[in-house]
Amino acid sequence: MRALVLGLLAALVFAGSFWFFASRGDEIVEFVADRADRLRVPVQKALGHEPRPSRIIYLNREGATLGPGSDDARKNRSSIIEMRGLATHTLDAFGGSKKTFESIAACVAENFAAYDVQVVTSRPVTDDYMMVMLGDRAGPLDDGKLHEGKHLYGLSPATRGPIERAIVYVFATELRNHVKHTCETTSHEIAHAYGLDHTRECSDLMSYEKPCKTRRVFADKDVPCGEDEDRNCDRGTATQNSHQLLLGLLGPRPTAATAP
Ligand SMILES: [Zn+2]
Repeated sequence: MRALVLGLLAALVFAGSFWFFASRGDEIVEFVADRADRLRVPVQKALGHEPRPSRIIYLNREGATLGPGSDDARKNRSSIIEMRGLATHTLDAFGGSKKTFESIAACVAENFAAYDVQVVTSRPVTDDYMMVMLGDRAGPLDDGKLHEGKHLYGLSPATRGPIERAIVYVFATELRNHVKHTCETTSHEIAHAYGLDHTRECSDLMSYEKPCKTRRVFADKDVPCGEDEDRNCDRGTATQNSHQLLLGLLGPRPTAATAP
């Protein structure tokens, strides 16, 4: 009897936390109910225009103190800090060597080589860029609900579309600054901030599947979305083609002949 009551209580607590999560977004109820490294955040309505994908990707190895609010990388303002109810949060600098960091940056740049974006490692002087906080552990950014108590390696805000000047997180210390894993996680989190969902394709950087033998890329294949089982994609489609989606959003990298 006692076990039954405890079981019922546990079920109620579980259902309560699910409801809390599911009802925080402004219109989508199923969005963050699954195991995920992305957090549903409000659409950036104050911009006064549709959020545009930022084409400069700044990999921050210095660490920074971030404040809450609608994402704005140039102001160190992060929607995830807001969603976590934090007044400020400081992320430590990248813990590995300069050489390791540069190897990660080169690998990320290679993953985005097909698209009209730039991966940089110094803070841009221009206004419009996305920032990846690359270092530290999740700490208070992890409430334990998104990923069933497993290590959280990365976290991105998500709205179903691009987030302008997004701030995303890669907890490189948790990944032991391993070049390949940190590069893949970084590429994956950046793509979430452009609006990509998870897929079930092992060769795709957006997948939670065990990697196939080939190097992971943004796969040019129409594949089902999902984590452990197939489901419809966030955008309402049955499948996602990660490469084509990025190509459509960002455009192809200008070739040397056509570059200004
Ligand atoms: Zn993810």
